Amino acid sequence: MTEVLRATGVTKRFAGIVALNDVTMAIDEGERVGLIGPNGAGKTTFFNCLLGVLPMDGGSVAIAGKDVTGVAAYRRVRAGIGRTFQRIELFPDCTVRDHLLVAERVRRGTGRLWKDMIGLGRPTSAELAQCDQVLGLLGLLDLADEPIERLSLGQGRLVEVGRALMTEPKLLLLDEPSSGLDRSETSALAKTLQEVQREQGFAILLVEHDVELVTSFTERSYVLDFGRLIAEGPTREVMASKEVRDAYLGNF
Ligand code: ATP
Repeated sequence: MTEVLRATGVTKRFAGIVALNDVTMAIDEGERVGLIGPNGAGKTTFFNCLLGVLPMDGGSVAIAGKDVTGVAAYRRVRAGIGRTFQRIELFPDCTVRDHLLVAERVRRGTGRLWKDMIGLGRPTSAELAQCDQVLGLLGLLDLADEPIERLSLGQGRLVEVGRALMTEPKLLLLDEPSSGLDRSETSALAKTLQEVQREQGFAILLVEHDVELVTSFTERSYVLDFGRLIAEGPTREVMASKEVRDAYLGNF
């Protein structure tokens, strides 16, 4: 098995708060792994450290065998990591297709968005074909020319997934994809994600409060509490453990 992520001893402090304390995690290609924990446990901070959006105070990160500690975020994306956001981060008046094209250019370009967009000119037929292939996988082809503001939240989340897939990730970080969705929208999203993940073979690290989704979607989970890993193992066993239930104060 090839390792797509090895994070070792990741530590992050914010004035007076230890948000992550010596967090170690390894993920193999094609795995679906959960990262759970109560509010404020450090889950999003961990994502931001893996991506290089936040500098770490200690530890190291390797993506697909390449040490990216201290490396800029866009270079980590090229090494094989992609993400979605808890609150969708899309431009309301830009089309679905434009969001995907921008991501593809950032992957190949200089890492400076304006320069990449101006410098590379109109999309080529190869870019458009790759874009439409990803949109097709996600069932979004009919919406390609729609501005984001015309989409539902669930469709917006799929656009975020599509944008991440354009960079050909080996590991996709999903930050609370069920947030704001009802039960049927959540299961539709999970079904699409599972199909695409099986077909493309990337690994997923899923941050999620929806216990049903984590249990059905992931094979293995890590549990963070106050910035420390308190459990890891097969998701069902982890969810059933007393320590994890106590950390959630009986919330599930
Ligand atoms: P949630 O489930 O509510 O999204 P989380 O597990 O993702 O929570 P984080 O958002 O990573 O938790 O926050 C971890 C801790 O770090 C919290 O105590 C939070 O207040 C603190 N924190 C996060 N970002 C910052 C920041 N930019 N400045 C100061 N403190 C921060």
